[in-house]
Parts: sequence; structure tokens; C-alpha cells
Amino acid sequence: MLKRFLVFFIYFSLSFSLFSLAADPTKKAQKEQLKTIVIDAGHGLPNSNAEGKYSYESALTLAIGLKIGQRLKEVLPECNILYTRTDENLPNGLTDKDKANRYRAQFANENKGDLFISIHVNSMEERYERRVEGHRQETYYVSVGKGRKKKKVARTRTVPIYKSYKLPCNRQGTETYIWAINKNDQKMQSIGTREEDGDITGEGGDSTINFYDSPEAKILASLRTKQFFDKSLMIANLVEDEFKKVGRPSFGVKQRNNQGIWVLQATNMPSILIETGFICNEAEEDYLNSEKGQNEMSYAVMRAVLRYKQSLESGIHKLDTIPTSK
Ligand SMILES: [Zn+2]
Repeated sequence: MLKRFLVFFIYFSLSFSLFSLAADPTKKAQKEQLKTIVIDAGHGLPNSNAEGKYSYESALTLAIGLKIGQRLKEVLPECNILYTRTDENLPNGLTDKDKANRYRAQFANENKGDLFISIHVNSMEERYERRVEGHRQETYYVSVGKGRKKKKVARTRTVPIYKSYKLPCNRQGTETYIWAINKNDQKMQSIGTREEDGDITGEGGDSTINFYDSPEAKILASLRTKQFFDKSLMIANLVEDEFKKVGRPSFGVKQRNNQGIWVLQATNMPSILIETGFICNEAEEDYLNSEKGQNEMSYAVMRAVLRYKQSLESGIHKLDTIPTSK
């Protein structure tokens, strides 16, 4: 009962502190620091993933991821910038991409990341169009007559000749994913395993709360899940906004359910996955490989993180934009 009381006390003091802190930005500044940012370059050899004419996804995500890390280090020297991988291979000497994905989340969780940014490169499935390439004569047979006089007669008809043409990939631009709302249970479970340094209320201190095995624990994990969702949505919107400012076409913020997004619900922190462009499109592939493109995008993400940090510090924890579903 005492425990239950304590949990409700924490719950209410947290709600209360959100109001009181909003009125006191200096106090907030201490409490919403981004201490650790985890940068996750998607894929890694032997899983090179999407391919363009001359480059592949895992190399581009690494190049862009490292640049984002450098930019953040320059403007947030007090911040701990960690990478799930820093060379061309899958993280931690792994060769299986699913194990590698589990490792990415585990790495971020063990290092108590405050923000998880996964970098990816998009592609489209190859599409073909059937076109008529001329005509040919085809022979077919019909039955004529009745009874004994019945016989088969050959006839001809003109039929089209088809040929398949691969359609060019003309998509371009970025999109940023947050975990799908119907995956909240999974996210809650990840959050439930987070050993807190007593900072559920943002009060600091050393007491450890383990959100496990009780209704109270579930309330706290659920509250956290909501907060992380709001924060993920906020940073995702800021990233897309910064991309638009440098002229990248933006498909906006989305929720997606497929496998690649697993890291988003397995990390117990606000987390986003950025699709930086379409490698199947020649112009986009050139942009993603260029110094100019990589600089533009890494500075854009850096500015988004700075705006995110400033928003948290001034007591803004959410944006009211609803992402589209896919
Ligand atoms: Zn990918």
C-alpha cells in the first residue's frame, strides 16, 4: 500500500512538476539535458541493403551518421555522442542482421541514451510496365459443322507483342519514422526494463526504480511511453522541418510497422529513424554520396537536435502534429 501510495505520489508530483517547471525554464534546463545521444548507422556488411548504381545503403548511413555525430559534438561538447557502429561492418562483430538490430537497441539502452537516431537510405521496389511492341499473327482452331461433318478449321488473328520496361525510380526526399502507436506495448516493455536513476520525476538522485511486475510499474511505464512518443514526434517533426529548409522534399513524419523499425520500439528512450533519400534515383544517389549532400543533411539534423533540446529546456514537450500512417 505504501508502495502504491508512493507511485501515485510520483505520478502526481510528475504531472505537477511539468507545470511548475514550465514556468521556470532555468530549473527545466538542468532537468532536460540531453546527456547521451546514440547514433545508429543502419545496416552494415554483410548486410549492405539497398543499392544504387554505384553505392549501397550501409556505406551511406555510416558516412552520414558519422557526420551527424561530428556536428553534434561541435555544438554540444558536454553531450556524450555514441555510435552503434563506426566501421563498414554490422555492429559488435555480428554477421546476422537481426542479432545486430537487437544489439543496437541493447547498446542504446545499456548506455542510457536520451535520444536514439537511426539513419537509413530509402529505395523503391523495382517496377515494370508492359508495353505493346508490335503485333503478330496467331493461329487458332475452331470447330465447324455438326455430327459427322464436324471438323476443326484453322484461323488466324492479330495479337499484340508485349515487352516489359523497368520504370525509373523518380522518388526523392526524406521521411522520418517513429514507432507505430499499436506497438506501444512493446515500447512499454522496453521502458519497463529501464533501470532509472531516480529521474522519473526529473529530480536526479541515485535511487533506482525498476518498472517491473506491478500495476504501479505499468502506470509509470505507460506514462513514460506517452512522454517518449511525444518527444519522438517532436524531434521527428523538427528533423523534417530542417530538411525542408535546405530544399529536401519531405514526406513528413510517419509510423511504420515493418521489421526495420524494430529498433524504435526496443529502445527505452525517444527514438527516430530517418530515411535520408532514395538511392534508386540517380540524382538522389549522387546527392547522398556528395560532400554537399552529406553536409546539408548532417547540419539539418544537428539544428533539429538543438531545437529539440531548446524546446525541452523551455518546457515544451510535445507538438500537436499527428503523423500519417503507412
Ligand atoms: Zn535501411
